[in-house]
Amino acid sequence: MTVTPCTALTIAGSDSGGGAGVQADLRTFFANGVHGLVALTAVTVQNSLGVQGFSEIPVDVVTAQIKAVAEDMGVNAAKTGMLATAEIIQAVAKTLDEVHIGRTTDTPFVVDPVAASMTGHALLREEALEAIRTELFPRATLITPNLDEVRLLTGVSVTDTKSQHAAAEALLEFGSQWVLVKGGHLYDAVDCVDLLTDGSAVIELSGPRIDTENTHGGGDTMASAITSSLAKGADVPTAVAEAKRFIERCVLEAYPLGAGVGPVSPFWRLANPQ
Ligand code: PLP
Repeated sequence: MTVTPCTALTIAGSDSGGGAGVQADLRTFFANGVHGLVALTAVTVQNSLGVQGFSEIPVDVVTAQIKAVAEDMGVNAAKTGMLATAEIIQAVAKTLDEVHIGRTTDTPFVVDPVAASMTGHALLREEALEAIRTELFPRATLITPNLDEVRLLTGVSVTDTKSQHAAAEALLEFGSQWVLVKGGHLYDAVDCVDLLTDGSAVIELSGPRIDTENTHGGGDTMASAITSSLAKGADVPTAVAEAKRFIERCVLEAYPLGAGVGPVSPFWRLANPQ
């Protein structure tokens, strides 16, 4: 019998190197048995050595992609990655309302507030940070910043558990339902502890710190793994816990590719279906 899988929509940029952006999202959705839908926001020119530049997709083309798939195919969960400009963010927010995606609807929405690549190349115009805070966060079921993004968004520098909690509280003020403050960039810590909270529940998710040079696309893969689980009906704490186990193995099996940073790998899941 033919089975139609759940669908997840990624609204994000393309990585020509295939390890981050929509490519990371689609391979994560696929590995988790979810049909991926795409609204492309920007085309980056990049390889393992870094981002050489990017070009935005016209705003009306971004929103038309969202409407086309949402109205015909239906979306079980959505996420944003690289959004590039304030205009795209504002238009995406308005369109998500129109197609009933977001925290006040039945369709969960994850915001990965992508600001820069790990090599330090901006993926978001500077004035667009405010639009992420005011337009996207209040619509989000969950936001998933890394520590660099936390500092840009709140001014809080996370150096230990106490400041990680303070950052989570500051982020909740922007209006998302849940906040996940990922501890992966706290390089002094022995374990990698992520903090998940909705203001009443406070959940610490601990995992081993894996020693690898190849972490390209790790943030995107985590957010899209969460979105995959949400698409299949998991609640937020379950989706984050499942995604944490998924990304750990992806980092463990990350492979070298090119002269710089190689991508995390979801391939293991194909040999180990759930
Ligand atoms: N390129 C695109 C299109 C992305 O969306 C991202 C991250 O979200 C990156 C590059 C950066 O990936 P990383 O920092 O893992 O190298």
